[in-house]
Amino acid sequence: MSRHGIPIGRIYGISIDLDFSWFLIVGLLAWMLADSYFPTEFPGWTPSQYWLIGVVTAVMLFVSVLIHELAHSVVAQHYGIPVPRITLFLFGGVSQIASEPPAPGEEFWIAFVGPVTSIALAAFFWEIEPLFANGQPVYALVTYLALINLILALFNLIPGFPLDGGRVFRAIVWRATRNYHRATVAAGVSGRFFGFVMIFYGVWRALTGDIGDGIWIALIGWFLESAAGSQLQQETVKTLLDGHRVIDAMERNFVQVPGYVSVQDLVDQGLTPAKSRFAIVTASGAPAGMVTFSGIREVPRQDWPSTPASQIMIPFQELATTQPDTVLWSALEKMGRDGVNQLPVLDANGVVGVLSREDIVHYLSGLRAIAA
Ligand SMILES: [Zn+2]
Repeated sequence: MSRHGIPIGRIYGISIDLDFSWFLIVGLLAWMLADSYFPTEFPGWTPSQYWLIGVVTAVMLFVSVLIHELAHSVVAQHYGIPVPRITLFLFGGVSQIASEPPAPGEEFWIAFVGPVTSIALAAFFWEIEPLFANGQPVYALVTYLALINLILALFNLIPGFPLDGGRVFRAIVWRATRNYHRATVAAGVSGRFFGFVMIFYGVWRALTGDIGDGIWIALIGWFLESAAGSQLQQETVKTLLDGHRVIDAMERNFVQVPGYVSVQDLVDQGLTPAKSRFAIVTASGAPAGMVTFSGIREVPRQDWPSTPASQIMIPFQELATTQPDTVLWSALEKMGRDGVNQLPVLDANGVVGVLSREDIVHYLSGLRAIAA
């Protein structure tokens, strides 16, 4: 989930965001609880009581998820890893921990504290349950929260990436083998395995009559499988790119024009999909900014001859850039973080090249051909 949701507040300096899918799932969950779960388990309430407790339970479930995520985040911050935000979405919550933990011990504790927190919450609701034995709706709420936090803890302990249990598993393999790459692959393969198990189990449940739960379990399995799969793919790319630098893959031929040149001349000079995807714009000889196709698209064609390139360039102050000796993998990560497709490559003398995702893909296929 790279897109951010609606920020609702900050805790320990961490922005708490609600993704749009969150509203969907809280609505669905409240409806399921009010319409079927509570009426079956606790007959005799009024419809408005079912709905009230249904909505409160659904929101409290996400408060539990938020506390679980906060536990991860606080431990990560304790190890000096920044956590800009926690996003609550369709499948629960996700803490955006800025970087991978540098050592297995840190990874172990950041991951393990989540399920431990959920177990503590289950125990807490379990303990206070008898206090509400006479007030049935609150009793129902507390019982449900005790159960669901226990299920959350157990589910998250499944030893497959990207679940907490998968990270704990990776930390243990990492410590044992002293090989981060091998540990990541093991946790990824395990995550895909458990994802497939859940998909098959969900489909089987759906086919044998329990359609709602079946589809839900299969969906979570699919989410797990694809997240583990992309982690594995990322690991392959990272291994291939290991030891290679921006200078190895960057494009050295790019169009460079002074700022007064018109958009029409810029296109005529080679800023076309066939030749170059970007142009560097200079002001009194020094690089000032970059023009890409999206900048050109904003200008109506009849205005091309009268619009100077400097008007549609993105100034360097606003651009993410990189250096020739930066590790290629970090440059790729930077593009992902900033949501850009190319980075101008700067050294002390100015722009020496441009690195795009296409350049990296191209370079990768070359590396793969050599490795094969
Ligand atoms: Zn967790």
